[in-house]
Amino acid sequence: MTTPDRSHGRKSIRESLKPRALDGESPDLVGIWRADIITLFPDVFPGVLGASLTGKGLKDGKWQLHTHDLRQFGEGKHRNVDDTPAGGGAGMVMRADVLGRAISDVLRRRPPCPIIYMSPRGKPLTQARAQALAEGPGVVVLCGRFEGIDQRVIDHFQIEEISVGDYVLSGGELAAQVMLDTAVRLIPGVLGNQISTEHESFSNGLLEHPQYTRPPVWEGREIPAVLMSGHHGKVEDWQKQQSEALTQERRPDLWEAFEG
Ligand code: SAH
Repeated sequence: MTTPDRSHGRKSIRESLKPRALDGESPDLVGIWRADIITLFPDVFPGVLGASLTGKGLKDGKWQLHTHDLRQFGEGKHRNVDDTPAGGGAGMVMRADVLGRAISDVLRRRPPCPIIYMSPRGKPLTQARAQALAEGPGVVVLCGRFEGIDQRVIDHFQIEEISVGDYVLSGGELAAQVMLDTAVRLIPGVLGNQISTEHESFSNGLLEHPQYTRPPVWEGREIPAVLMSGHHGKVEDWQKQQSEALTQERRPDLWEAFEG
């Protein structure tokens, strides 16, 4: 049974995103920031990146996403991509030859750029790294599964390893979407004027001050009077003081770096 089409000829967001976002073979939009994702699960992209402003940016060609199904580069009839770890131990490791073929194929199709393996052993992702990525030509991202990937691939292609935090995910796909989101939202034209990225947390080394909006009183709680004063200088002073106090209290590591 098929669901009745109520779109009246309009394409749903999902439909209109499809050719560019889900088809690894879609044409290169020359000169446009480009992400190439090597994954066993291409269907989970664009995922959350297809929503809201990053999704609109993708649809409008402000950035492009090409997914590459690692299975296509697999070995033999069953297109195997993994094998048991050398030296023994639990789980499976993604094969060097399979990954090597996939990476070489991707590199032939796009301008040079950093290659990043999402990895809990990597350098923690920072706003500064996101900013630098956004200013470059794009990125090739390798999503791991199982116990991870053969070390020789990392050494051979001089791959950078990036972590999204000190915890272990089942695969690199969520981590890749986190990292891409941080970079893509900084590409000019993606957020438009809707959101200022200048004063937000980490951009200046501090956490952002608290935010308030309507109604002026909610559940007996008032918006801090200074924010209703209309006095721009006082508002700025208050925000700066809050931002510093929050950072000192919650992130002594950031505060120390900010002061030093
Ligand atoms: N055995 C590995 C964990 C493998 S988890 C270890 O102990 O280090 C499977 C995959 O999920 C990894 O290859 C990586 O691509 C991804 N992944 C898991 N946690 C991650 C994290 N914190 N940051 C980025 N990627 C992560």
